Amino acid sequence: MNYESHNGWPYKNIEHWPPMTYRDRSPPTSENLETFFGILKTKSNDNQIKELQPWLPFCEGKCSFCYFTVNCEKQNVTPYISALKKALSFYAKTEYVKSSIFNELYIGGGSPSVISNEKIEDLLDFCRTNFNFSADHITKFTACTTNLSLEKINALSSNGVKQLDIGIQTFNDSLRENLMIRDSSREAKKKLQLSKKNGLRISIDLLYNLPGQSIDQWIEDIKQAIELEVESVDCYPLDLYPGTPLAKKISEGQLPPTGNQDVEMKMYLEAYRIFKEYGYKPTCHNRFSRLEEDFKKPSSEVVGTGAGFFMGHLDRFLYSDIEDLSAYTISVKNGIFPISRLTNLSVEEEMRKAMMLIYIRVPLNREWFKNEYGRFPEEVFPEPLRNLRNKGLIETIDGNIQMTEKGDPWRFNIAWEFFENKDRLQ
Ligand code: SF4
Repeated sequence: MNYESHNGWPYKNIEHWPPMTYRDRSPPTSENLETFFGILKTKSNDNQIKELQPWLPFCEGKCSFCYFTVNCEKQNVTPYISALKKALSFYAKTEYVKSSIFNELYIGGGSPSVISNEKIEDLLDFCRTNFNFSADHITKFTACTTNLSLEKINALSSNGVKQLDIGIQTFNDSLRENLMIRDSSREAKKKLQLSKKNGLRISIDLLYNLPGQSIDQWIEDIKQAIELEVESVDCYPLDLYPGTPLAKKISEGQLPPTGNQDVEMKMYLEAYRIFKEYGYKPTCHNRFSRLEEDFKKPSSEVVGTGAGFFMGHLDRFLYSDIEDLSAYTISVKNGIFPISRLTNLSVEEEMRKAMMLIYIRVPLNREWFKNEYGRFPEEVFPEPLRNLRNKGLIETIDGNIQMTEKGDPWRFNIAWEFFENKDRLQ
């Protein structure tokens, strides 16, 4: 890499992921499991914003860039869903969950819209019967345009689903083909319009820095999302995972490589500029949104389960489930929580995690931090905060530490400052 071209950059590499993802977790120790089950026997903390996340890892076909563990075998759906419901019951029967009120029901996975309407209705009903939801809770559903028929859209909206999260990735047909997406841009757009017409909010994912994608093509994707009046867009730089068909095609020369970091940064800055111009503001990890609720503090606890589910956060535990569908099903059938990785956060790790609010664009209140941990952030993390301020990446306004506009493209690097300084330019 030519560092000369990075004059003025605060870091030599653009990070794509924050610390503490499921990749960093270890298999559970018997001691950790015992403490985890101990917590499940206690009452939950009322002040936390909670989300329930059942995971359905099914898709119609696998996209060439996808690194998720997804399953395309229809015959596996019925036994899996009964295992999923049983695993959800494990949690529902605990004192912790019985005393929890959930603010959001998020059906995630691969593309759960591939499941039949009857099974979707049954699962939503099961969740609402077995868990407590606040009167104003929201239900979000991950979907793929290939299986969004009018009947499916109606079934979702009449069963309380308010928002669809849809992986569009790109509206460009030749790029869609490279990504092995199964419908055309025209068909996908029709489905987005139909969903909106039938009262559903739409949040889409777009990928940038795709192999062979020009800046103009990327700008065109952004403009089409805006024209379709979607509520929010999550913009992800392509992460190439070794072993995926896309990575293989690039390494064999069948597709051009992705652009370098200068191109990636230019694309992100174009997205930032255009979305801002059209009233969408940056929020969460990678989102531009015009929904007010996207700017509130996110869920602090995610109770969920499913093969490949990785977002678990319950009290001071982070957890993820077994990825393999049949191993997950067997574990549940045997009455065993299907947890494959479990981290018991120490107070120090909790403090580091609290600082990461900054990167998801939520201001960190200094007084709140002091009340929680007994010291101000500057007393615990003097050097990272000094560095970030000196670089102009964060600022403090009315007692809140927050990211500056200059810091925004570097938000994942900012998160790493509280863990280890990766690749900092001196
Ligand atoms: S639809 Fe989504 S989850 Fe399914 S293979 Fe494609 S990218 Fe992966």
